[in-house]
Amino acid sequence: MPRIQRVDVQDIRFPTSRALDGSDAMNAAPDYSATYVTLHTDADDGLEGHGLTFTIGRGNEICVAAVNSLASRLEGRTLESITANMGEFWRDLTSGDSQLRWLGPEKGVIHLACSAMVNAVWDLWAKHEGKPVWKLLADMSPAELVSCLDFRFITDALTPDEAIALLEAKRSGKAEREAYLREHGYPGYTTSAGWLGYSEEKMRTLCREALAEGWAHFKQKVGGDIDEDRRRAAILREEIGADRTLMMDANQMWDVQEAIDNMRRLAEFDPHWIEEPTSPDDILGHAQIRRELKTIGVATGEHCHNRVMFKQFFQAEALDYCQLDAARLGGLNEVIVVVLLAAKYGIPVCPHGGGVGLCEYTQHISMFDYIAVSGELDGRLLEYVDHLHEHFVDPVTIRAGRYRVPDAPGYGVTMKPESLAEHRFPEGPAWRDAPATD
Ligand SMILES: [Mg+2]
Repeated sequence: MPRIQRVDVQDIRFPTSRALDGSDAMNAAPDYSATYVTLHTDADDGLEGHGLTFTIGRGNEICVAAVNSLASRLEGRTLESITANMGEFWRDLTSGDSQLRWLGPEKGVIHLACSAMVNAVWDLWAKHEGKPVWKLLADMSPAELVSCLDFRFITDALTPDEAIALLEAKRSGKAEREAYLREHGYPGYTTSAGWLGYSEEKMRTLCREALAEGWAHFKQKVGGDIDEDRRRAAILREEIGADRTLMMDANQMWDVQEAIDNMRRLAEFDPHWIEEPTSPDDILGHAQIRRELKTIGVATGEHCHNRVMFKQFFQAEALDYCQLDAARLGGLNEVIVVVLLAAKYGIPVCPHGGGVGLCEYTQHISMFDYIAVSGELDGRLLEYVDHLHEHFVDPVTIRAGRYRVPDAPGYGVTMKPESLAEHRFPEGPAWRDAPATD
């Protein structure tokens, strides 16, 4: 098995704020960015592991510094010493250095850095096995899979034995579900028409293009002026018709009562869910919004930083859709824990995709969830954002609004060398001649 000789990390930024791609009420002008980790090994074939965490520009250098602070915990280790006990490895990386753990614990910049590194390890493992990550996971026995996970702080909600039982219950039928995905793909929804910074005319044009491509589920950004939100909702409804799905995303803009009042004013446009109606940490606030709105689902999770938060969201019946983030949770190990928790509580997992590389990650999570954990597609929609896929060696493939099954070995976020060189901050050509906007 290969040995990890060196952890390399790069500050990669894309100037998306220039066209207001990705803009919403809270995040007015993001520059989609990646803290991009490469694990160099001693393998003769040049095998490398690649992982990233997502930020929206300034501060990406802080994530880079955090990866450098953690690098010595990976350097010099053989892949086998990690995969022989993935659960222990994860505990060691996230909590083994108590001085670094103090910066979180298991949240914020230090956890984002862990995510990039953990995901790079999974990418390395999957490439070494010659499988895409979803397949590596789906082929494991329940006991093998559960041994990769850390159940600390959640055994009051889910024990390792319960997790094994959940996986055993879905063991039969895995081959049929894999075959179904290969034939039909995994259902997605698009956020690309509804960014808040786009003009109404641009929104209409993008919406028509998406309809022509076969999309049936659309998301609108709200949380600006409520009358403008209503006008934009009316345009989207007019374009997509009554039968297609319209979701709304407030990106944390409202107080609890404000969220309830505003969604009552938007209810006539029949929103499927309201996403991040208020602070991402306000579990009881989400529960209250959910109780009062009744027919509109509550979705959240892209800023939910660890499994303990998700456990409480589930226990408090505070959400209808779990929008875990592949690069905010502490990498794939913790993502799988949340997928299992969601299955236990009967909550559909609809991962967050708004960022660079997130769709490339989340397709593996949702397909694994369907094949091996929930066995369900009901209520599940995987976010798609139509930006920056051209920078990846194996970008996602979408057909008629559905994700095709990825077959390339790894976790999907390996970037092209020329894209890395172009977008390295601040010296890459994309930044050298045009400084970042404030
Ligand atoms: Mg969102």
